[in-house]
Amino acid sequence: MIDLHLHTTASDGTLTPSALVSRAAAIGLRIIAVTDHDTLAGLPEARAAAAAHGLRLVDGVEITAVEDRRDLHLLAYFIDPANAALVDFLAVQRQDRMRRMRDIAERLAALDVPVDIESVIAERKDGRSLGRPQIADALVAAGHARDRDDAFDRFIGSDRPAYVPRRGARPDDVIDIVRRAGGIVSMAHPALTKKDEIIPRLASAGLAALEARHSDQDPAAEQHYRELASRYGLAVSGGSDFHGDAGHRAALFGSVVLPLEDFAAFESRRA
Ligand code: ZN
Ligand code: FE
Ligand code: FE
Repeated sequence: MIDLHLHTTASDGTLTPSALVSRAAAIGLRIIAVTDHDTLAGLPEARAAAAAHGLRLVDGVEITAVEDRRDLHLLAYFIDPANAALVDFLAVQRQDRMRRMRDIAERLAALDVPVDIESVIAERKDGRSLGRPQIADALVAAGHARDRDDAFDRFIGSDRPAYVPRRGARPDDVIDIVRRAGGIVSMAHPALTKKDEIIPRLASAGLAALEARHSDQDPAAEQHYRELASRYGLAVSGGSDFHGDAGHRAALFGSVVLPLEDFAAFESRRA
């Protein structure tokens, strides 16, 4: 079984890379990709654990690009984690995450639901990335929200009062950087992103695949993206987007998997 979309404590997952890999091995996964948000920090530990369990680890990262002022997640695979341009690019991405978190914290303070943003930032050392889920956790800890979903619904989700847009990279540039680092890109959870109109443009910019199979996409959505993929000459990828045992995706770890023939077709897009 294959799952190409997994998060660890290097970004907003709740399991360490080794704990995640052990769980993956225990439920019968054979090929996995760790795809933390804008960081490669979980990969060395994941690689060692995967070797110990006899799993194949595909080096990955989920990069946040910005299209029309909204986040667009691009999954990069088979990258060289030592590629200097990619490493530098991701460091800039994480710097902007911090700038944005401080801006969100200012808005929360103005809304009378303050959080201690500097201690949240201080916890994210060693290249671990920071995002709105950590702010949501701080809102919960401060008693301003019931849980992460409540924090997003009332304060920090898109179009909510403390939302601050990202100043991120253009998707076309992300595809370029990833390809220069030896990797290929799949557009993450397209049914959540709801930007089908940009798929033809990204396909000509070198996009390799659409993430047709994902734990938040039903069979009709999977079929829709399989059709779009074949229309634009793309492969398909897939995974659970497991972030740990909290949240609705937890139960889908091990059941939202990518068929081997899809993986083979996707991998054949490597340069
Ligand atoms: Zn995440
Ligand atoms: Fe995502
Ligand atoms: Fe993800």
